Amino acid sequence: MKILVSNDDGIHSPGLLALAEVAAQFGEVMICAPDAEQSATGQAITITRPLAMHPVRSLAGFNAWRVNGTPSDCVALGLYKWGGADLVLSGINLGTNLGNDVWHSGTVAAAKQAVLLGVPGYAFSQAAGPDEPNYSQQKPHIAQVIEVLLGSQPAPRLANINLPPNPHGLRWTHQSVRAYNGKVVEAHDPMGRPHLWFSAIPLTSPDVNSDRWAYDNGYVSITPLRLDLTDDAALRNLNA
Ligand code: MN
Repeated sequence: MKILVSNDDGIHSPGLLALAEVAAQFGEVMICAPDAEQSATGQAITITRPLAMHPVRSLAGFNAWRVNGTPSDCVALGLYKWGGADLVLSGINLGTNLGNDVWHSGTVAAAKQAVLLGVPGYAFSQAAGPDEPNYSQQKPHIAQVIEVLLGSQPAPRLANINLPPNPHGLRWTHQSVRAYNGKVVEAHDPMGRPHLWFSAIPLTSPDVNSDRWAYDNGYVSITPLRLDLTDDAALRNLNA
């Protein structure tokens, strides 16, 4: 099995290497990741300038490439360069991608890009704290998730996985779409110039069996996703 590994935190993220090491248990691995952080770039692709793809020789012996583009660019170029793959894994993101994060996430977008190109894509994220995550502790859980997903009949094409710090089980979940405050904070830089930060902070508590609920309760959350955003209920209503 050919497994392409990408992320949105960049080629030097420790989470990328950890995911590649787990992927190597399942097949042949190629890494293709952004040369700089691309978090929260969503599904963006680069169309106004050419892209470059350079080999990276110092990534634990992996066949690794860096691209001056977005996660979606990396998946497209990686699949092109490798002549396709059987699976694309994205992450492990330094930070969770729960609920509405899915809209903004470059990590999830890389998996979505894989599905757009006909390859199953699974995105992995975990909490980011002041210390680097304990990957040796998390890796068996990631391997278990990949086993469970690939062993499902039929295997989901697209999945978003979030790992709490010390998981005690897996849960199939739905995306929690909560009201979000879209808070804008104004401040000043050291030169006195005004600047702004936009942050998306959830407002209400998560519903049971949602991704955030599972994460809050110490479970690995696995959310099968689809690309079709059609509001079926609204469509039925409009057609009635
Ligand atoms: Mn990220």
